[in-house]
Amino acid sequence: MTDDLGVSHGTGTPALTAVADHQSKVAALLPRTPVLAKPLADCLGHALAADLATPIPLPPFDNSAMDGYAVRSVDLADASEQHPVKLPVHEDIPAGRVDVSPLQPGSAHRIMTGAQLPPGADAVIPVERTDGGTEQVRLFASVQPGAHVRRSGEDVAVGETVLTAGTTLGPAQLAVAAAVGAANLSVHQPVRVLVLSTGSELVEPGTDLRPGQIYESNGLMLAAAVREAGGTATLLRFVPDDVEAFHAALAPHLDSTDLLITSGGVSAGAYEVVKDALSGTGVEFTKVAMQPGMPQGCGRYRDRVAVVTLPGNPVSSMVSFEVFVRPALRAAAGHRSIQRPVRQAALIESLTAPAGRRQYRRGRFDPATATVTLQGAPGSHLLAGLARANCLLEIPEDVTELAAGSTVDVMLLD
Ligand code: AMP
Ligand code: MG
Repeated sequence: MTDDLGVSHGTGTPALTAVADHQSKVAALLPRTPVLAKPLADCLGHALAADLATPIPLPPFDNSAMDGYAVRSVDLADASEQHPVKLPVHEDIPAGRVDVSPLQPGSAHRIMTGAQLPPGADAVIPVERTDGGTEQVRLFASVQPGAHVRRSGEDVAVGETVLTAGTTLGPAQLAVAAAVGAANLSVHQPVRVLVLSTGSELVEPGTDLRPGQIYESNGLMLAAAVREAGGTATLLRFVPDDVEAFHAALAPHLDSTDLLITSGGVSAGAYEVVKDALSGTGVEFTKVAMQPGMPQGCGRYRDRVAVVTLPGNPVSSMVSFEVFVRPALRAAAGHRSIQRPVRQAALIESLTAPAGRRQYRRGRFDPATATVTLQGAPGSHLLAGLARANCLLEIPEDVTELAAGSTVDVMLLD
């Protein structure tokens, strides 16, 4: 057996699990989460559980699109720079004021953006086209009927759907929900994830490194990835390579966890704490036909918590999260958008890839030229290359060489 790059499998190696099969197994572990009503302010990143129809039109009433004067357009028909029309100003209408008299022919009301158009007016002339007078106003241009008026319902009519079930709620989606008067939204509960990172060599960034130690990075990375995917994450970062310590760390969190993601301790060496602790508990370990990320595992721990065990090498860990965990997390939490967008790109340089394994290389995709530049070698410890990347190249199992200029699929990460 080999390291995570899997230079050789040796003879008599059992067949590798196909990427798609492991994806399906992981996805099957996570059922749809329950639906709950949440205040709008707490809904960022959640998936809407039911269509949202508006009980009011947007805009709710005809209103001014400009600061200016509400007028009858016929009164200004002959207005120009040389021959301004002079009208008395009868009312001043800030946004929110409605107790105004109807506009009489041959007069103007001063009006601010967002204020309701007074009865009798059919247009607004912007203040920039006037002398800005408050008793009397000189108007230097004509206006078309309806000019600078935002009509009730021109955005959406009563009863129209403004957001569909499965929509991921971002700033604009929260804004339209607020604009139609929703105080709470029906959303899917996020998946509650426990990220448990193992390794006796791992220490906290900010402390001194002793010989043989490295700073822990996977736990932080995976918890951030979970949150970015719409889940909640609890992070246990420094679980040593000791089966008893592993169980002791896990036990207090079992009741509040939907999915346990472990990092490390699943490859072919000795001291593989995750394998040792979880074998026989409902979690199965396998080798997936991919690079990086061959050692994988998943299952249901003691018939309770879903478990996905990710390899310890940082790039393997992140790629495995993207390939197996992220789509499952998003599907479970009700999101319509589950997969990363995939684009086709021309390779700037040639590459080689292992036969029989799907390779994920890190790259920078340039949308302007539809090209992709590799970021670092294939090694699964090359974290800086991952940090420079904005995409993963997906090289099919049966492809072993690609010349510069070849087309590849790239999964966009941001
Ligand atoms: P393992 O799968 O536990 O054998 O780990 C494989 C490699 O990844 C080793 O070089 C580990 O030191 C490294 N590694 C494992 N876990 C982490 C982590 N949480 N942060 C950074 N590196 C890690
Ligand atoms: Mg380890």
